[in-house]
Amino acid sequence: MEEKKSIVCNCCGTHFSAFGNVVEKDFLHVKKQWGYFSKKDGRIDEFFVCESCYDKWLENFVICPKERMATEFL
Ligand SMILES: [Zn+2]
Repeated sequence: MEEKKSIVCNCCGTHFSAFGNVVEKDFLHVKKQWGYFSKKDGRIDEFFVCESCYDKWLENFVICPKERMATEFL
């Protein structure tokens, strides 16, 4: 049996239960390694954002992200 884990939204602190790769709610996962032409060369940042915080975040975007529907679900 998969171990139960907890994923925490970095914006609002809400906890989500996860069993292996299955999470009770979908979320955004960002993992970014900054490169040489940044002020954070070599630093790896990682965070999680829940769907409601994601929607609030996008309200601040000047240009909306591209949207398209998946034709295959992994
Ligand atoms: Zn959140």
